[in-house]
Amino acid sequence: MSTLTANPDFEQRRRDVAAALCAVLPPHCVLSRLEDTRPYECDGLSAYRQPPMVVALPEDESQVAAVLEVCRTLNVPVVPRGAGTGLSGGAMPIAQGVVLSTAKLNRIVRVDPYARTAVVQPGVRNLAISEAAAPHGLYYAPDPSSQIACTIGGNVAENSGGVHCLKYGLTVHNVLRARVVTIEGDVIELGGEALDAPGLDLLAVFIGSEGMLGIVTEVTVKLVPKPAVARVIMASFADVVTGANAVARVIAAGIIPAGLEMMDQTSSRMVEPFVHAGYDLDAAAILLCEADGTLDEVEDEIARMAAVLRDAGASAIAVSTSEEERLRFWSGRKNAFPAAGRISPDYYCMDGTIPRKNLAQVLAGIAQMEVKYGLRCANVFHAGDGNLHPLILFDANQPDELARAEAFGADILALCVAVGGTITGEHGVGIEKIDSMCVQFKPAELAAFFAVKRAFDPLALLNPDKAIPTLHRCAEFGRMRVTNGVLPHANLPRF
Ligand SMILES: Cc1cc2nc3c(=O)[nH]c(=O)nc-3n(C[C@H](O)[C@H](O)[C@H](O)COP(=O)(O)OP(=O)(O)OC[C@H]3O[C@@H](n4cnc5c(N)ncnc54)[C@H](O)[C@@H]3O)c2cc1C
Repeated sequence: MSTLTANPDFEQRRRDVAAALCAVLPPHCVLSRLEDTRPYECDGLSAYRQPPMVVALPEDESQVAAVLEVCRTLNVPVVPRGAGTGLSGGAMPIAQGVVLSTAKLNRIVRVDPYARTAVVQPGVRNLAISEAAAPHGLYYAPDPSSQIACTIGGNVAENSGGVHCLKYGLTVHNVLRARVVTIEGDVIELGGEALDAPGLDLLAVFIGSEGMLGIVTEVTVKLVPKPAVARVIMASFADVVTGANAVARVIAAGIIPAGLEMMDQTSSRMVEPFVHAGYDLDAAAILLCEADGTLDEVEDEIARMAAVLRDAGASAIAVSTSEEERLRFWSGRKNAFPAAGRISPDYYCMDGTIPRKNLAQVLAGIAQMEVKYGLRCANVFHAGDGNLHPLILFDANQPDELARAEAFGADILALCVAVGGTITGEHGVGIEKIDSMCVQFKPAELAAFFAVKRAFDPLALLNPDKAIPTLHRCAEFGRMRVTNGVLPHANLPRF
């Protein structure tokens, strides 16, 4: 039993909040026993865990508003949660808070093949949208590797990306409208179904706001026609630097591939025994470059890409000859994160974005950090977007390894900022990168973010202490960086 549950004041507070929620929700939609709330204790950043005080599972929008009303009245912080696949701790609970899960808001309201849109509730899985649109020859383009599980509500809150976002854009480019319940219990509509919406573009502010401004209760997404054909090139490189430079060469040649991903040798060797994708295991790096469109377009683009890649130093090139082979080539990339578990007890997935021209420099810097921190790192990432995903491999049971992995990750992000990039590309800030925000932004910029947060959530009840660091925290972080070796989130509970 944790200290908190043994505390009578906490137990009383838990009972009061659960009773107030049971007054507005059916009893099966409120969880307050530790054995029921434990499954919500973390998201994909599983090094940090904290069971919530109570979990609320509203079944419709009016119940979402009622939950927020209760929390506002009782001054209880609220952490929204979709599928809990987030990698930056955005859905990690607060000890004295309520987790508001959207699991029961999982209805596809309608698919409109004429408008090429779908209206869905927030708990609908990303892949389920494409499955519902498939009979009309349409699909939803942003495709996080977690798409089998993650929800559109989580995608909106994180502005999620995926393999196809280089050509088709991130969530922000594919969402037309969102219904949102504010902490005041008001329902507001952001955006619209037309190309432009009047008023301030609050939809763009909301997308990527990590559950800090309101609860998304309905989303209208764009659907795009399924391309007639898609083929993928697998290009091998004898060294990582040549592979990284080839990425910039493809884009500089005026080609926008449907996907342009890179895997280093550690990644391809870790995933190959798992999915048998047919990867070149002797290559120091492989690139996967996809073309989609009509048969003519694809043949032309594949030929042009192959020429650029050869010219850039590719040691071997294979092109998928069937849909089955194309999916097999991608299966390795899509399963790389889970495959990390085959070679390491734990991994820490970083997410930073850099200008493409700096890829080789940053990968070389990461290789030096492997030596500095005595930890291995697998690189598998959206190379075309310059969006890195270093997987730092460590063993949480070894003293100090988690702390070293975190310091390694913070150094990578600092390097991303130093070359003109950003500390996130698609996984959000959450608790994971909150200190790195101090590296990226000036105090005046952080103050502007807080002003937006206060405008939506004056009592700071929605996902507080995530994503935007206070100036005090940044001052503390500055001191910690000087002394080094101190855990970035020493105040947070661990398992
Ligand atoms: C194996 C794996 C691969 C991944 N690959 C990718 C990838 O390729 N691209 C990518 O972008 N991400 C990727 N991710 C990260 C993650 O899947 C995405 O961030 C995803 O959007 C999270 O969705 P979710 O439903 O799990 O949200 P959660 O993790 O539950 O929540 C994420 C954030 O959204 C907020 N939130 C959730 N629902 C709502 C709502 N209705 N209203 C307001 N706020 C809400 C939460 O408070 C939290 O801050 C990957 C994760 C894993 C585990």
